[in-house]
Amino acid sequence: METRVITPEFVPHPDTKEAVSESIRLLQAGEVVALPTETVYGLAADALNPAAVAKIFEAKERPTFDPLIVHLPHKKDLAMVADVPPDINAVLQKITDRFWPGPLTIILPKKDIVPDLVTAGLPTVAVRVSANSLFKKVAQGLGRPIAAPSANRFGSISPTSAAAVQAELDGRIPLIIDAGATMHGLESTIIKIEPGSPKATITILRPGPVTAEDLKLYGKVKTLTRSVVDEATEAPGQLASHYAPKTPLRLFESPSDFIPDPAKRYALMSYRGEAKDGYINLTDWVEVMMLSPGKGKLPEAAVRFFYILRALDNLGVDEIIAEPLAEHGVGVAMMDRLRRAAVKF
Ligand code: AMP
Ligand code: MG
Repeated sequence: METRVITPEFVPHPDTKEAVSESIRLLQAGEVVALPTETVYGLAADALNPAAVAKIFEAKERPTFDPLIVHLPHKKDLAMVADVPPDINAVLQKITDRFWPGPLTIILPKKDIVPDLVTAGLPTVAVRVSANSLFKKVAQGLGRPIAAPSANRFGSISPTSAAAVQAELDGRIPLIIDAGATMHGLESTIIKIEPGSPKATITILRPGPVTAEDLKLYGKVKTLTRSVVDEATEAPGQLASHYAPKTPLRLFESPSDFIPDPAKRYALMSYRGEAKDGYINLTDWVEVMMLSPGKGKLPEAAVRFFYILRALDNLGVDEIIAEPLAEHGVGVAMMDRLRRAAVKF
């Protein structure tokens, strides 16, 4: 198959008609299309068409036990795919008013219309509404929910640009819409909501751009510890090993843990740069790439995170060393991704 790339003229506000109409045409025909979202590029298909959804699994080589996120055209379309339990309706309303459209996915009981392939046979469905202007136009033009996991091969680095999608899926999908780098650069936060008095409980199943700090206004926030997530089927695709470059990546939580082997070539993913105790002075790096070269700190690092991981992976070094990030705000999500990407000792 030849993969076509359409680059809309007005990046970063791509509204060219061809990108939207061609995407809708393919989705209606039961095909897959790589589309930008505000998190990472997604591989989209009509969520209510099991044959189309099957093509996502095939192109990504994704195991069918890993359920997909369903993206709605509008907030008000939630009832198309999910049954909202009355005891969480009020808090859900507040959360969706605040965070939709945006990078927050919510697990809810599913309606029968949602194919089992989408939810990996679970009685629940993961739902969000994307804020990306092009994605919104496609979803609204299609008028149906869209299943769209990250547009990469299963287990590898999520794509934050059209070039990254091409590196992952060229020849396997008919169309990529190139709308520049994605805004947040990390996959959506996934939560489930349980009723409670006086406050609901909000459990973060996957940390992301919407942080625990953001959510605590709406309920008691629980974050699953790593070991619990690994064992649980709560968010089934969140495997212990994921987001991994081909080059071994190591995460040393303290600089003294890193003992360089003089025979090896290392590249550094640096967060703290020249700061005291920064990893930059630990050895002669083949390459150092800064997560936050400006003053943007964690949000800037998030935007660059997968892009840098991919660039370091392409250098042909023996190992990539990741310097730990501040573990608050969106830093929690990046440390989660790094721990999954890292070689286990
Ligand atoms: P992505 O690959 O970014 O589309 O994210 C999909 C992830 O959402 C899966 O790997 C699961 O961890 C999570 N997910 C999707 N559906 C459900 C569900 N019904 N219950 C729990 N987690 C889900
Ligand atoms: Mg993914």
